[in-house]
Amino acid sequence: MEFDWSAADVAFRDEVRAFLDANLTPELRRAGRLATSVYPDHEASMAWQRILHERGWAAPAWPVEHGGCAWSLTQHYIFSRESTLAGAPPLSPMGIRMVAHAIIAYGTPEQQAFYLPRILSGEIFFCQGYSEPEAGSDLASLTMAAVDDGDDLVCTGSKIWTTHATEANWIFCLVRTSRAGKKQQGITFLLIDMTTPGIEIRPLVMTSGEQVQNQVFFDNVRVPKSNVLGQIDDGWTVAKYLLVFERGGGAMAPYLQAMAQEVAVAAAEQPGPDGNPLLDDAAFAARLADARIRSDVLEILEYRTISAMSRGQNPGPAASMLKILATELSQQLTELALEAAGPRGRVYQPHATAPGGPIAEFVPPADGYTSGADWQAVAPLRYFNDRAGSIYAGSNEIQRNILAKAALGL
Ligand SMILES: Cc1cc2nc3c(=O)[nH]c(=O)nc-3n(C[C@H](O)[C@H](O)[C@H](O)COP(=O)(O)OP(=O)(O)OC[C@H]3O[C@@H](n4cnc5c(N)ncnc54)[C@H](O)[C@@H]3O)c2cc1C
Repeated sequence: MEFDWSAADVAFRDEVRAFLDANLTPELRRAGRLATSVYPDHEASMAWQRILHERGWAAPAWPVEHGGCAWSLTQHYIFSRESTLAGAPPLSPMGIRMVAHAIIAYGTPEQQAFYLPRILSGEIFFCQGYSEPEAGSDLASLTMAAVDDGDDLVCTGSKIWTTHATEANWIFCLVRTSRAGKKQQGITFLLIDMTTPGIEIRPLVMTSGEQVQNQVFFDNVRVPKSNVLGQIDDGWTVAKYLLVFERGGGAMAPYLQAMAQEVAVAAAEQPGPDGNPLLDDAAFAARLADARIRSDVLEILEYRTISAMSRGQNPGPAASMLKILATELSQQLTELALEAAGPRGRVYQPHATAPGGPIAEFVPPADGYTSGADWQAVAPLRYFNDRAGSIYAGSNEIQRNILAKAALGL
């Protein structure tokens, strides 16, 4: 896409570039480059958030009165594109991009004054307690009980697949406060301090050996009613509002375009099936071109979403479209990246990095199978990790159901 940048936009871009140059240390850039999914190394991501917060840029999409930036659509785009190209580690989405929007829309002034500044500074780090062992796609069938007891709700049950539960000090949960009426009624949206007695976390170790997701158990956990977001029994309204921000509202297009470029450069050096560069292989080139075109489509949709959000609107069903397009495109590109990385990229190298986990020092082992290039080492990890993209945040089948109903009226 070609832009006719205004002088003010060029000045802003230069300001962002100068800021990134001055503040992105080699360690932070490496953490960004080695991010294998939405989650980079946790410490690096938080360090970057603190730097952005100091500059007032940690949550540009929030309304200005809560600490967001009064940026134009173009400025939002410039900021995310330049950050991606410079290799900045992405920030964790659960606080700034997700629950904060629900607090802004449904929180009391007291809740907003308490949580929002602390989410911005990183003092409060939220994880998401929606899914349960028997409630994933059919989220409204959740059963974690919250029993009314004076000023408190007493919670018992469990949440599963909770990303970063071991790093978080707060969790936002959907709990069952009533069984009367439809299953969507009687759900309450609750903010829970993870240090409250009765909470136990058990890590879920993936077949890859990574440990980012967890199961969280609640045994008679007392939570003050003042921690309810919105109304008791009407948490489904808040939950749906938040999900739209989980599925849309990010800027994945610049990241995916940068990945497509990286793949093109690598494929120009990697021999294809006939011995000529892989990039000259017609089938490979067509798949890469298709991915690049889709990333431009995604970019336009992201503009629309950012534009709606910066006017204080909810992105609506467009978020489901963004979620499907971004995750499937990312899967397509990680497949191409694996091919372009060549035989060495195919070797699984978990010691190179772990999504959301610590980045190990890169020491090529003596067997000689480890690539020296960071991105080649990360290619298989990104590939594996991106398989989950069409499941998390509500599976893509469910997003298609939402679009069929909300956008097509079927
Ligand atoms: C990496 C990862 C991180 C996650 N992080 C979190 C987190 O931090 N917090 C959290 O709360 N949850 C998290 N989740 C959970 C995620 O939201 C659920 O996995 C997801 O909603 C699907 O639920 P499920 O796993 O129970 O699958 P199920 O609901 O059992 O679905 C199984 C399959 O059936 C299909 N299916 C189900 N119903 C329908 C239907 N009506 N029409 C068509 N197809 C259907 C689904 O698409 C899926 O393919 C995470 C998941 C993953 C993989």
